[in-house]
Amino acid sequence: MVYLIHFSEKIHHAQHYIGFVEGNLIQRIELHLNNRGSKLLAAVNNQGIRWQVVRVWLEGDRYFERKLKNYKKSRHFCPICRSKH
Ligand SMILES: [Zn+2]
Repeated sequence: MVYLIHFSEKIHHAQHYIGFVEGNLIQRIELHLNNRGSKLLAAVNNQGIRWQVVRVWLEGDRYFERKLKNYKKSRHFCPICRSKH
């Protein structure tokens, strides 16, 4: 599945992380919490920025993840950012 994480503050001009996980999302979240899932989220953790998974595409595959990343407009998919408009 593909998941979207929203950061409470921007870091390196980014406020979102899109990831793909085959299987257990909770385990992946725990990796992120332990700074082992992604460098960006590790940096976010180190800055003390809070984050949360705001959206999940259960049927999303790696191709879909790549498509979302290439689109470079994660906030369009983010319920938190959209509600601020
Ligand atoms: Zn957002």
